[in-house]
Amino acid sequence: MNSRVLLVEDEKNIARFIELELRHENFDVVHVISGREGLEAAKTHDFDVVLLDVMLPELNGIEVCRRIRSFSQIPILLITARDAVIDRVAGLDAGADDYIVKPFAIEELLARIRSVLRRASKLNHETARLQIKDIIVDTDAHTVKVAEQNIELTKTEYDLLVYLMQQKNRVVTRDLILENVWGYLADIETNVVDVYIRHLRSKLPQHATSYIETVRGVGYVMRE
Ligand code: CA
Repeated sequence: MNSRVLLVEDEKNIARFIELELRHENFDVVHVISGREGLEAAKTHDFDVVLLDVMLPELNGIEVCRRIRSFSQIPILLITARDAVIDRVAGLDAGADDYIVKPFAIEELLARIRSVLRRASKLNHETARLQIKDIIVDTDAHTVKVAEQNIELTKTEYDLLVYLMQQKNRVVTRDLILENVWGYLADIETNVVDVYIRHLRSKLPQHATSYIETVRGVGYVMRE
């Protein structure tokens, strides 16, 4: 699957250039032109990396970065103006992973994107063992244990459980679950999610069925 990039940039020519180059390199790109839209997109969709311009109208990139960090560990690459040292320091303080200075060569941008993605995938790899209460999933061995007891799940049930555990303490909507477990182009009804949640709960021992909480009108959450 292609890596998904959220590009937040108000300058149309620069954005178009970056978007074309990234598509050419097989990235999927969503482009928005304001900090508010960027924040909203980061909240409601899953991306692999955020490319965030600092100089944005209203909500600037540093503030967007800080707010994204309050709910997500997604890699963030800041795009700063030349010599704006203060931006870079503030950006890294706000939780950005790296920054690139305008004007930049596209090769440099691509190299930095690959580098933050590599770092992020290493981190993911280290968390091959997911745990919430007494549910333990080993994503290397593909095993699920609850209170030391092995649980057999279908592929979709397993993917659903892993996704909820990766998002622990975060309420995820049915749309977000569909997008991440079934693939965001899947043409299926959101109530399929409810059906699979029921299947999944029914396979867990009685005491663990409540670990997957229903948040009425919103979606689901597993809490630590
Ligand atoms: Ca700008």
